Order: sequence, then C-alpha cells, then structure tokens
Amino acid sequence: MDFQAYWLLALPVFFGLGWLAARVDIRHLLSESRALPASYFKGLNFLLNEQPDKAIESFIEVARAEQQTVELQFALGGLFRRRGEVDRATRMHQNLVERTDLGHQQRTDALYELAQDYLKAGLLDRAETLFLQLCDSDHEEEALRHLLDIFVTEKDWNKAIDTAQILSRKTGEDLTGDMANYYCEQATLAYTHSQMDEAHQHLVQALTLHRKCVRALILQGEWAWRAGKVEEACELWQSIEQVDPAYLFLVANSLTDAWRQQGRLVEGSILLRGWSERYPNIDLLSMTFQLVLEVHGGDEALRLVRAELERRPSLGSLDKFLEGQLVVVPVEQRQAVQLMRDIVHGHFERQSAYQCQRCGFKARSFHWHCPACGGWDTYPPRRQGESDWAQSPR
Ligand SMILES: [Zn+2]
Repeated sequence: MDFQAYWLLALPVFFGLGWLAARVDIRHLLSESRALPASYFKGLNFLLNEQPDKAIESFIEVARAEQQTVELQFALGGLFRRRGEVDRATRMHQNLVERTDLGHQQRTDALYELAQDYLKAGLLDRAETLFLQLCDSDHEEEALRHLLDIFVTEKDWNKAIDTAQILSRKTGEDLTGDMANYYCEQATLAYTHSQMDEAHQHLVQALTLHRKCVRALILQGEWAWRAGKVEEACELWQSIEQVDPAYLFLVANSLTDAWRQQGRLVEGSILLRGWSERYPNIDLLSMTFQLVLEVHGGDEALRLVRAELERRPSLGSLDKFLEGQLVVVPVEQRQAVQLMRDIVHGHFERQSAYQCQRCGFKARSFHWHCPACGGWDTYPPRRQGESDWAQSPR
C-alpha cells in the first residue's frame, strides 16, 4: 500500500480523541470518589491497618448513610453471621428484605441470607418457611439441602425422604443410602410405639430402595429375636455375609445368644471362626475368641488368637493373644502376663476408634449417623489403627 500525505493529518485527530477519552475517565473517577463518604475511606484505612472491628464500624456508618450501598450491606451481614453476631446479621438482612427499591434477584438473595441467619440462630421453623419460599428461585438447590438438614434435625423423616427425593432428581446425586437410613429411623420410632406392622413396612421400604442396607437387616433380625422368632432372626443376621461381611461384627454377639438358646453353639463357633478368618475384624475376633473359649476351652481359644497374630500381626491381635495367654498360663506367671496385657490393651484402646470418613470425628462405638457432621454411613465398619502393624513396613 502506498503512503498517502493526508494520513499525516489523521494522526493529531487520533491523539486528540485519546486525550479526550482519558479526561472523561479521570473526571468520572473523581466524581465517583467525591460521591463516596469519608467513612468508606476510613473503613478501608482500618482494614489496611488490620483493625477489622473499627473497619466494620466505619462500613456500618456508610451503609446507614448511603442506602444504595446494597452490596456492602450484604457483605457486612454475611460477615456478622460468620463472626457469630447473628442478631446484627439478621437486622441487616431484614432491612434489605423490607426495602421496596430492590430488584427481584437482590430480594431473593436477601431472603436466602436471612434464612441462613435464622438457621444459625436455631430458629428452625422460621428458616424452614423461608427456605420453602426459595425452592422456586436460583437458590433452590441450597435451600433443599438446608431443608433436608432441618428435617433430619427435627426427626421429621417423612419430609426428609420427600426432600431427598426432590434433591436427588434435581442434582442427580445418589441419596438412596441416606433415605434408607431415614426409613430405618422411622422403623425404630414405630417399633418403640409398638406399631409393629408399620415398623416392618418401613424396613421393607429401606431394603427396596437400598438392597444392601445392612442396618435394616440388623433391625429386622433384632425384632424377630424379641418376638421369639429365633430361627428367622438367625437367618436375617447370617444373610449379612452375602450383603456386606464387614458388618458381621455388629451381629456376632446377638447370633451367639440365639445359638445358645437353640443349643447350636458348636455349629455357631465353626461359622464364627470361618468368618473371623475370611473377614478380619478385631471386634469379630474378640467375639469369636469368647465363643471358642466357652465351647472348646482355653487351649483352642489360644490357638485361634495365635493363628490370627501370625496371619495379621497388629496391636489388636497381640492384645487378643495376651488375653488368650492369660487363660492358660500357670498361676506363677499370671501376674507378668497380666501386666503385659494391661499395657498393650490400654495402648490399643487409646489408639483404636471408629472414625468418620467425612469429618474425621472419632468415636468409641460404631455409628450409622455421624454425631459431628451428620453424615450417614460415613463410619467404615472397622476400627482405625486395627491393622497398623500389618500395613506398615517392618
Ligand atoms: Zn462426620
């Protein structure tokens, strides 16, 4: 392309346009900064000097004086809730909800914040009302999750099941395990009110929804046992081997009682011994040890725990081995073995616990529902630290 002389004339025009644009921008910035109140800059200054409390007071002043600072009010409200100042958060969000000049989205956001304030304050009925209102808004999924938590806290299992179904349909999340637990809770409640048919129906619903619901099988077995249907109870508990054998330790003691009543302890001890070998679990080993001791005596019980110690060396199996030793050891050596056993047992008890996989909360006994994070089926069916020796390089 050839150079044209008139292009030189265009250059000053471009420079002029650039200068004009810069002036407009600077003027805009200056007018904006003049519009901001002094408290805003004071607040920023406090923030930069790491004085958050003074910064918050300055921002509150801004929010009070300048009604258009909606986002600032949202930020302050959220901050108050996080700091545990729920009353202040509630007042701030309530003011936003009551304002008539807010758009639909901002009002919905304010309602969602207010519902969370109520939840944090423990005002569950108010929070529930607001979250229900939010179920046809952009906050539907979060509202459903909060509602589910509220219904579980209130033990309103019918509503919890309905909400979990809606949430599952909406998000594609598999909540069948949780829902089966809700049915188990319902069944337990019905059972305590002697509503046997209803209790049974809830367990059938749990198993229809979640074929591998061990908890429902255990409950069915317990109730059959209490109703005197010992054979049926044994079948239900033994069926757990096909569903998930890791949970057999939860029924081993009940099965032993049933076998004792039926005069089938020898047969039972063989079954329990087989399970203990195939599905290693320190609690199951402990129950098997007691049964073998009762049926076959100390030498056989010691053989059982020695074989386990050789197969899977761990603090737990050493503890059981020493317990077995105590049964057969001559009286003059008993004190020394007892001392050793006490030390090992104390150490094992201190380090072994059931631990929630979701939040890490440790508990002495097994839980279907974590008391800390509220998760369902979050406890693996074995104690933590049970097989440390076997897993660590020696
Ligand atoms: Zn947990």
